[in-house]
Amino acid sequence: MANANCPECEGVIELADGSFVAGEIIDCPDCGVELEITSVQPLTLELAPEEEEDWGE
Ligand SMILES: [Zn+2]
Repeated sequence: MANANCPECEGVIELADGSFVAGEIIDCPDCGVELEITSVQPLTLELAPEEEEDWGE
């Protein structure tokens, strides 16, 4: 397992090794904010840039 702290709520986020790649966007399970994986080794998370998603859903 790899873990890192959410920059928004300081909650610990655990990810299984090999289940993530740099650039992936994940949701914080505690506060729901979108986080971008900026580095895999060590695991580093940053708030994802807010972008307008207009995929018609
Ligand atoms: Zn959070």
